[in-house]
Amino acid sequence: MTPSFDELARQFDGSLHTRKHASKTTEGKTVIHRSREYPIVETSPPTSPSSEVRRRMRRQKTSGTRCEIAVRKILHRRGVRFRVDFQPNPALRTRVDIGWKNIRLAVFIDGCFWHKCPDHFVAPKTNTEWWEAKLNANTERDARITHQLAEQGWEVLRFWEHEDPRHIASEITRLRDERSGEAITSR
Ligand SMILES: [Zn+2]
Repeated sequence: MTPSFDELARQFDGSLHTRKHASKTTEGKTVIHRSREYPIVETSPPTSPSSEVRRRMRRQKTSGTRCEIAVRKILHRRGVRFRVDFQPNPALRTRVDIGWKNIRLAVFIDGCFWHKCPDHFVAPKTNTEWWEAKLNANTERDARITHQLAEQGWEVLRFWEHEDPRHIASEITRLRDERSGEAITSR
């Protein structure tokens, strides 16, 4: 679980900045989009977060992003029980957002900024190198974790926080049922 744009902005006491970009429709019409807001970091991002930042990040871990909370609520409403924010394997040093250990199903809901969503990611204009290194490390880590979990027999689902929570919930339920069915027949 990583902080959302808004959480990041708050963390840097940030002003939010909106960018506009244009694209063309298939009919050749130009459309102006407003991309998601991202925080302007006025000072150098901390290489070692202050205790205050660490404390806030810990709090965010347990609360979850808006999308994650929406997905959890939908699952609850559908009577689905699950674990949140757990370690699938302590050696991997990663936490799964939603999942089940018994059927080895791990769901990650990735933030558009932190995980460089192809639709919404806009690189910060300041401290470019610092951000690039940090965010590239994130995406490399994502790929590595997905691979390692898969090697250990986990089914890994990754969603973007911009996706429809109802769709995410349905996909999770479908895979859970599928994995549960397999677990029963192989018993
Ligand atoms: Zn996105």
